[in-house]
Amino acid sequence: MRADPPLLEARDISVAFGSFRAVDGASLTIGKGEIIGLIGPNGAGKSTFFNCLAGDRQPASGSIRLRGHDVTRASPEDHARLGLARSWQVPAVFDDMSVRDNVVVGAFLRHKRASDAAAVADRVIAFTGLAPIAQSRSGSLGTPARKRLEIARALATEPEILLLDEALAGLTPTEVRAAIELVRRIHAQGITLVIVEHVMEVILSLADRAVVFNQGRVIAEGKPRDVVQDPGVIEAYLGR
Ligand code: ADP
Ligand code: MG
Repeated sequence: MRADPPLLEARDISVAFGSFRAVDGASLTIGKGEIIGLIGPNGAGKSTFFNCLAGDRQPASGSIRLRGHDVTRASPEDHARLGLARSWQVPAVFDDMSVRDNVVVGAFLRHKRASDAAAVADRVIAFTGLAPIAQSRSGSLGTPARKRLEIARALATEPEILLLDEALAGLTPTEVRAAIELVRRIHAQGITLVIVEHVMEVILSLADRAVVFNQGRVIAEGKPRDVVQDPGVIEAYLGR
């Protein structure tokens, strides 16, 4: 019997903006069911790497496989169909539409019939606690509700793996705790997670594995508690 391929496997990814290498030979293998915390100082290349994983940017070199399929040059829609979603999955939240309609748009990825898409959307809206504001205009939402809506839209595509890039940024400590609780419930549904976060507490309380980026490379990887005590990691944070 052959072992299952990793859920997502990025090898030796590089991205350059002019002569500047934002991502410089980064690799990451993600197994089913993991919660991976991607950390590192500002400008380390986390978002650029994320964009490659989601198909929103093509790397200059390297390869990416999603559930065994080569997606190195695939579109974001192809990634979504293969079960990968991100918190601000294209198209972004439509301000003029209601919360519910925004979630319905996500559900149309897998459902042709409006009633099927609506059923998925209503399930996701209940799950994410958005029911009381389902009819509100999305443009009128405050930060916590908008963040939640971005996650709900991504969930409506029924992903196997969800990438959250600073989905908890700008929240108060109380809101962060509620968001951590939501992430735990998402994971309990069997969804694999990769989260980029600045708040170290989030990584320490959620992630099985922390991966540290600095200057476009992975400089450390391991249990979050160990990684945050690594002298090289501390220096990377203080050195900028
Ligand atoms: P992080 O998410 O870790 O803060 P980013 O991936 O956003 O880092 O950015 C990595 C580096 O690449 C930064 O120096 C940033 O200024 C630069 N960068 C990101 N996107 C672009 C772009 N579209 N054009 C030019 N430089 C960019
Ligand atoms: Mg970023």
